[in-house]
Amino acid sequence: MGPGSGIAPALAAAASPQPGQPALAALVEDAARTPLIPQGAEPFPPDDDEQPLYAARTKVYPQRVTGTYRRAKWAILFVTLGIYYLLPFVRWDRGPHAPSQAVLVDFPNRRFYFFFIEIWPQEFYYLTGLLIIAAMTLFLMNAVAGRLWCGYLCPQTVWTDLFQAIERWTEGDRREHLQRDRQPWTLERMARAGAKHFLWLMVAWWTGGAWVLYFGDAPTLVRDLATFQAPFVAYVFIGLLTFTTYALAGWMREQVCVYMCPWPRIQAALTDEYALNVTYRYDRGEPRASLKKAAERREQGLPAGDCIECLQCVHVCPTGVDIRNGPDLGCIQCGLCIDACDAVMKKIGRPARLIAYDTDLNIKRRQQGLSSFYHIVRTRTVLYTVIIAVVGAVMLYALATRRNDAVSVIHDRNPLFVRLADGSLRNAFAVRVLNKSLEARTFALSVSGLEGADLDVIGSSSFSGANPLIEVGPDQSREVRVLVTAREPLAAGASVPIIFTIVPRTGGTAASASDHFIGP
Ligand code: SF4
Ligand code: SF4
Repeated sequence: MGPGSGIAPALAAAASPQPGQPALAALVEDAARTPLIPQGAEPFPPDDDEQPLYAARTKVYPQRVTGTYRRAKWAILFVTLGIYYLLPFVRWDRGPHAPSQAVLVDFPNRRFYFFFIEIWPQEFYYLTGLLIIAAMTLFLMNAVAGRLWCGYLCPQTVWTDLFQAIERWTEGDRREHLQRDRQPWTLERMARAGAKHFLWLMVAWWTGGAWVLYFGDAPTLVRDLATFQAPFVAYVFIGLLTFTTYALAGWMREQVCVYMCPWPRIQAALTDEYALNVTYRYDRGEPRASLKKAAERREQGLPAGDCIECLQCVHVCPTGVDIRNGPDLGCIQCGLCIDACDAVMKKIGRPARLIAYDTDLNIKRRQQGLSSFYHIVRTRTVLYTVIIAVVGAVMLYALATRRNDAVSVIHDRNPLFVRLADGSLRNAFAVRVLNKSLEARTFALSVSGLEGADLDVIGSSSFSGANPLIEVGPDQSREVRVLVTAREPLAAGASVPIIFTIVPRTGGTAASASDHFIGP
């Protein structure tokens, strides 16, 4: 019998009612008159689709916690912030013709210095390589252990962590702060809040200040800033970054991760079932009950999990997530709930890691009596590692074989050629010679590919044989206007490939660039 086979007889029975039963038409009319929601009853709960897209923020009061993950986060915080604040003051001797700041973005001279590496604008492909490596590293971290970046390394997490530490120091730990927030304003409360905001602003101001130090000589800029002689744009950027740091780390905190940052959404699409994530091991924790009730259940021979409903994991969470409810977009995977729960497990004499880096797959395997299975080496992790290694190797090779000189050439657009009085043809070019070494150098310029052609560099009167000489200062480039004159007649519409070559007079290998000599 098919699934719809009972409908027709039922309709027929309703249309031909038995004595004493209402007819179908009467039932329909009655249904139309009857309200869908009985009087006094609760309306239907809204569909998930109709839920508001924005929830008002519930302030989070993260509790102090100690443990392995907390210590790791402190270490990362000190190292990353230490590097950020102090790096502009690290010196690196490059000789008299280059700045001595180890890391410097030199906009006026269009250079980027990173210790022994100096990047010219023409070499910004290195930046592309770095961006590929950064993206692949992020993907690799995600494939191995979920939101490692979010939990430990993201600037939003690091500064929020610091701001929360300041908050606990000035306004007290979770319980004390909660109680104080429920009480009316007193002098003490105002002083504590004032101290917190003052310290937040100091950190935010120093964060903005440190940023601008990467764009000029740091000691000089500090002096100029203090004496109000620094460029106006430096004050503008310090103000902007002070404001954004104060607002993002002090006020918005977890809302940046939940609402503003795209990475949690991308990360969720990139992950798979083998990636380790901070996971509540419900196979061990459930059924949860208070310590007393769990003991009673065990006495009665009933099952009782290890979770004693103490909520310590929720209270320490910087984003206010209850990890026991399963994966959550708000969970930045910082591992602090692991530390909190481990401390509880230690107190009640149960094994640690009721919350741990694990997978749902493992939980299901354990429930089936199988052992846990950690599958870190898999196609995607190998692929990401190979891409990082290949791009890294290419970049290292390019750096190791990087030349100290280069030449580029651009043909004049208009006119493409000029016929001289003696009938010969002339083309003009802009030739740029780059001298990346830290001493002045002289290059001999030659052209090949056009038999018997004359070469002139406007403004240059020195020659090496028939080759004009071009002097270029240390760590500089120089553009010269070059005239090439063909003495031999050319076929109509000719476009002859030619090669410009520069040879350093102090020794070294030649560099060349190609273009075309164009005829009528
Ligand atoms: S800290 Fe551990 S025991 Fe306490 S509620 Fe969280 S998971 Fe349960
Ligand atoms: S649930 Fe745990 S891992 Fe996730 S953000 Fe909160 S404390 Fe960190």
